[in-house]
Amino acid sequence: HASTAAPLAYQVNLSDHALGEAQRNALLAGELGFGKRFTDHMVAIQWDKDRGWHDAQVHAYGPLSLDPAAAVLHYGQEIFEGIKAYRHADGSIWTFRPEANGARLQRSAARLALPQLPVDEFVESLRQLVAVDHAWVPSAPESSLYFRPFMIASEAFLGVRAAQVATYYVIASPAGAYFAKGVAPVSIWLSEDYARAAKGGTGAAKCGGNYAASLLPQQEAQAQGCSQVLFLDPVEGKYLEELGGMNVFLVYRDGRLVTPELSGSILEGITRSSILQLARDRGMTVEERRVSIDEWKAGVASGEIAEVFACGTAAVVTPIGELKGKDFAVGDIHAPAGEVTMALRRELTDIQHGRAPDRHGWMARL
Ligand code: PMP
Repeated sequence: HASTAAPLAYQVNLSDHALGEAQRNALLAGELGFGKRFTDHMVAIQWDKDRGWHDAQVHAYGPLSLDPAAAVLHYGQEIFEGIKAYRHADGSIWTFRPEANGARLQRSAARLALPQLPVDEFVESLRQLVAVDHAWVPSAPESSLYFRPFMIASEAFLGVRAAQVATYYVIASPAGAYFAKGVAPVSIWLSEDYARAAKGGTGAAKCGGNYAASLLPQQEAQAQGCSQVLFLDPVEGKYLEELGGMNVFLVYRDGRLVTPELSGSILEGITRSSILQLARDRGMTVEERRVSIDEWKAGVASGEIAEVFACGTAAVVTPIGELKGKDFAVGDIHAPAGEVTMALRRELTDIQHGRAPDRHGWMARL
């Protein structure tokens, strides 16, 4: 795919309806929750086959005007990212490993036959939005501004082929502490009837369709009193893959940290890769390999597996207290969160929020 060599020049049109300072601050001081309120502005960049990336804008947040024949509405040609900005104690605003998210967006684009946005332009798009909406980055403990960069096939054409017109957007939403009442272990549900991905499918891409496929099993999990669903590999149905929106780790009593290998059908989490690094730094033995569901059940029952946790940008690290399925349950939802889980969580959030030295150069100032 063609990409413009020179950096994109942005046109900035400030919103007439931007919230006033008092209103915004009242909103930021309240219950932020997740993904419900959005900042005053958004980024939009156009792409077409002839011109490549062009017409970069920052403008008022608001509804899109989309042709009803736009390919995304029919064939689901869409990808997205999730990344946060953190306000440090001195007021400065930082993000975490943005090049990794930019590279993942490129891999997702390749799989979905969408154009690849240069990684530098991905990072610049976050900077452009923060330049106008910096006051929306909250400062309450463990809060952040969640960016949702996404790309859609916007060509008005019903033929089934890769779109020749696409649009990239970034919106942003202030997010409160994920565990407002303290980190608490969750129950998860093993999906035995559904997979989220297929061999050769789009599981490794961050595309909307994967999430659409996960919603029915997610409903099933909730009906069973579980907060998330665990998927097994789509070929044999024996090996752990990931949760609907997080990667998964097992902590062995002997100090090993084990996570499913990148099978081609799981998402390569930025949090996953950071946890692997922090664990290596602590001298833990880390294993990326196939892990069967039987290994999990037997290991928890015997005590060989001491802790299990999930990780992702939204919740960072979530202890898993219990795994339930149609005819079994392992773990103890009432047991306190594991020590290794909480230590890794603390270490990572301390780096992100600027409370600990950034020894791997993961933080980028916005
Ligand atoms: N797996 C899936 C399916 C996800 O949606 C996410 C969230 N992006 C993750 C794993 C974790 O990825 P990350 O650590 O980059 O947020």
